[in-house]
Amino acid sequence: MDVVVVGAGIAGLSCARALTEDGARVRVLERGRVVGGRLASKRYDGRYADIGAAYFVADDPGFAAQAQDWESRGMARRWTDTLRVYPGGETTTGPMRWAAPGGLRSLATDLADGLDVRLSTELGELPADADAVVLAMPGPQALRLAPPPAVEAAATAQTWKPVIAAVLTYPAREWGDLRGAFVNGHPALATVCDDGDRRGDGAPVLVAHSTPELAARHLDDPATAGPLLADAVGEVLALSAQPEVHVHRWTYAQPEPVDAPYAADGRIWLCGDAFGRPRVETAWLSGRAVARALLG
Ligand SMILES: Cc1cc2nc3c(=O)[nH]c(=O)nc-3n(C[C@H](O)[C@H](O)[C@H](O)COP(=O)(O)OP(=O)(O)OC[C@H]3O[C@@H](n4cnc5c(N)ncnc54)[C@H](O)[C@@H]3O)c2cc1C
Repeated sequence: MDVVVVGAGIAGLSCARALTEDGARVRVLERGRVVGGRLASKRYDGRYADIGAAYFVADDPGFAAQAQDWESRGMARRWTDTLRVYPGGETTTGPMRWAAPGGLRSLATDLADGLDVRLSTELGELPADADAVVLAMPGPQALRLAPPPAVEAAATAQTWKPVIAAVLTYPAREWGDLRGAFVNGHPALATVCDDGDRRGDGAPVLVAHSTPELAARHLDDPATAGPLLADAVGEVLALSAQPEVHVHRWTYAQPEPVDAPYAADGRIWLCGDAFGRPRVETAWLSGRAVARALLG
């Protein structure tokens, strides 16, 4: 079986890996220069910061086994089950959040190892020469490839919100034992995480994620959101120093969950994190579910 997987995010890579391990011939086409998609780490002044997913959880036994495999090779670590909630700064305990010392994108790089991945390859139309084509990406991006009706309907039904991420580099760590925080009711700021703590190198770097409302207002010029996010973080955490600011725009950041593992129409499949709670684990599971269905 010849399969083309379009998109080398965690969904496309988990799908391609499962198919390849079962003997399928798989090509992964990715428009970016690196794998990972929203599992993204970007280098600023020689250091990687996680600018997409902040962490991941591993509730599903299959994904937990994947996380433990990464852990056994020193690639992932159990970061924290405790985050703060602002206003107030109280702590809240939930599932274990996992992080990656090398940046979360290093986990995508690991999944891609040994696969036929073609980077900087943006597909403009569906390939005719494959038994199956897996679109592993947000629905609005899949629509650009003019998929057949059932996949088009599933992609159209998805609703997405944008986020702007701001990487804030301070002269020194001033925020004590923060780890990460949810910020409720703020017009600009939704979450902030201690990147030095989750990566384990103690760098004085916070990564803030905007509210969808702020991102929508600044999508055309995301740099203008940077100072607003820096001010919001300074105010919420009572910081005195001004950070150096870098921003990244995610036009399709957060989908509304859909209650299905994937969509399909003939030889065209659609998977990704919209198919369940929007998170890394869901994307991984959705890609695997398509692989299982294709393998029969
Ligand atoms: C700001 C932010 C914060 C988040 N925080 C968390 C969190 O804390 N915990 C958590 O679990 N999840 C979080 N997420 C969600 C998590 O990042 C996603 O669920 C997951 O990475 C989605 O993977 P995916 O493979 O479905 O999609 P993507 O990662 O979007 O991958 C799609 C890929 O397809 C490629 N592509 C698109 N069109 C084409 C084309 N025509 N040709 C070739 N390639 C194409 C894209 O370049 C991309 O690499 C966050 C996401 C964002 C943006």
